[in-house]
Amino acid sequence: MSKAESISVSIRLRPFSKKEKAAGADKIVRCDEAKGIVQVDNPEKSNEDPKNFFFDTVYGDESLQQTVYDKTCRPIVQGIFEGFNGTIFAYGQTGTGKTWTMEGLPHDPNLKGVIPNAFNHIITSIGLIPDRKFLVRVAFLEIYNENIRDLLVTNPKQVQSLSLHESPNGGVYVKNLSQHVVKSADEMMMVMDRGKLARSVGATDMNPESSRSHSIFTITLEIIEMAPNGKPIVKTGKLSLVDLAGSERQSKTNASGERLVEATKINLSLSALGNVISALTSSKKAHVPYRDSVLTRLLEDSLGGNARTAMIATCGPAASNYNETLSTLRYASRAK
Ligand code: ADP
Ligand code: MG
Repeated sequence: MSKAESISVSIRLRPFSKKEKAAGADKIVRCDEAKGIVQVDNPEKSNEDPKNFFFDTVYGDESLQQTVYDKTCRPIVQGIFEGFNGTIFAYGQTGTGKTWTMEGLPHDPNLKGVIPNAFNHIITSIGLIPDRKFLVRVAFLEIYNENIRDLLVTNPKQVQSLSLHESPNGGVYVKNLSQHVVKSADEMMMVMDRGKLARSVGATDMNPESSRSHSIFTITLEIIEMAPNGKPIVKTGKLSLVDLAGSERQSKTNASGERLVEATKINLSLSALGNVISALTSSKKAHVPYRDSVLTRLLEDSLGGNARTAMIATCGPAASNYNETLSTLRYASRAK
């Protein structure tokens, strides 16, 4: 598998919100889905040429959840049946559609996002392969201020920060992270809903709004096949579904104390992720700086190597988002 095949970068533009529409906002972002081009106008300089950015896939503001899943995500999820790890990220400014893309409305067949679509895909595929046994486990965690929190413990108030450990085979794992065996898409949904609740409970107690933390939903698939000699052969594929913290530049000048710590840690981990992906896609044999953040350490076995990765960078259409939209498009361009 070439590097170009193993990492894909897509852009998704969200439609205007009701509020933006009511305010008569100007649309400064255009998507050419056929050519994979995103064009941005400078709202302050109408005579300036628009800026063009090129990507593997571009989703305009009318794109369907199912299209995003089929084109960008399905091949990665399919890969875990062949023992490839996979990672799908949503990156972007808060309010541009990361959670919409990853979760959507999980209980609505047309509006459900990547995670519930992946559930259905996995459970359906398992049903089509009767000659093998499968074990599906899920885990759900959040990284806030470089601390790891399990979102699936029974009492979310008792959550402690978990730590990363090196396993004997060289991989990295989260010690004491709870793993939950699930047998149906409904069961997976229940687990996901429970984790989301833990996220918001945490948010009121310790006040990390979800936009300031990364959440990672992990699905581990064990495939058990019987060899002709009757001995079981186990293959494992792991899928990490990541809703990243908002990429907006945190105003450092006004932030102090807790907010400043948050801002610094978010910048650190998003730039560490950018550096890792850019090293992986570089044509030169570059050092891959996995160790620079908890996020990249945790995902080391799911980024690069035999893993398949998709980054979906989300942006808003309005002039008021101009600077953040440019910064998202630049970040995503660098990851290609
Ligand atoms: P983020 O997670 O990046 O902060 P959200 O996913 O919460 O942003 O999206 C912000 C708002 O915009 C939500 O109300 C969401 O329903 C809506 N939205 C985002 N993307 C889309 C889209 N592609 N189509 C329709 N509504 C969207
Ligand atoms: Mg969100």
